[in-house]
Amino acid sequence: MLAQATRDAARMSQPAGVGLDSPAVRARMVQRLAAEGLAGEAVLDAMVKVPRHRFVDPALVQQAYEDTSLPIGFGQTISKPSAVARMLQLLMEGDMSRRQGHLGRVLEIGTGCGYQAAVLSLLARSLVSLERIHGLHIQAMSRIEQWRLDARLRLPVQLVHVDGRGGHAAHGPFDSIIAAAGGEALPEAWLTQLAPGGRLVAPLVEGAGQVLAVVDHRMLGGRSMLEHSRREAVSFVPLKSGLG
Ligand code: SAH
Repeated sequence: MLAQATRDAARMSQPAGVGLDSPAVRARMVQRLAAEGLAGEAVLDAMVKVPRHRFVDPALVQQAYEDTSLPIGFGQTISKPSAVARMLQLLMEGDMSRRQGHLGRVLEIGTGCGYQAAVLSLLARSLVSLERIHGLHIQAMSRIEQWRLDARLRLPVQLVHVDGRGGHAAHGPFDSIIAAAGGEALPEAWLTQLAPGGRLVAPLVEGAGQVLAVVDHRMLGGRSMLEHSRREAVSFVPLKSGLG
């Protein structure tokens, strides 16, 4: 145990450019995402700043900057970096976000290990992130807090342990809503908590698989309408009910 802890500490304190968890390795990961054209500057900039390896189990640090999803405990997985980049870019292309250059008030469903919440917090004016599994919620709080302290950031982030299918009306409406778990239908609460000009991006079960669903809240001639579209096939954990 102690030996492992020491090895972890040594890895964490290696100078930049050395080791599989260094800023240089992270920068290379982001360069690959840029080369694939997955996201624009704002999203890539935020991803360069968040140490993904600090959000996964120390035993998985070596894989933290590969483009793979990784187990985070409780039967859940952290999304692969290319999926995070793609979803955040879709959010950035919502009407309000494109105009403002940031994601505004954000709601995330599925905090998981807290990695995507950390990236979102750099692109948002405020972030509420919901998680149904208590152990993950607690762990994400401490990881985000640790990163915040180390990076000396003031983050407008609130993590809540709750079944996220009800959204979070108290802090709504939201300019950007993003889910990291896919259900049979988009919960009504998410749609009613989406502000005019706002965009929602979420996986949705379709047939035997899942697709990425995008909903834009538009105002046309003074009337409010929700425009639904479907994008590529994706693979996320299921959206579950109740607390875990
Ligand atoms: N963005 C996360 C990905 C986590 S995976 C990260 O960076 O790690 C998706 C998460 O959604 C899981 O942690 C799962 O527990 C959570 N989840 C599933 N159904 C949920 C629900 N109804 N409410 C809140 N969280 C939910």
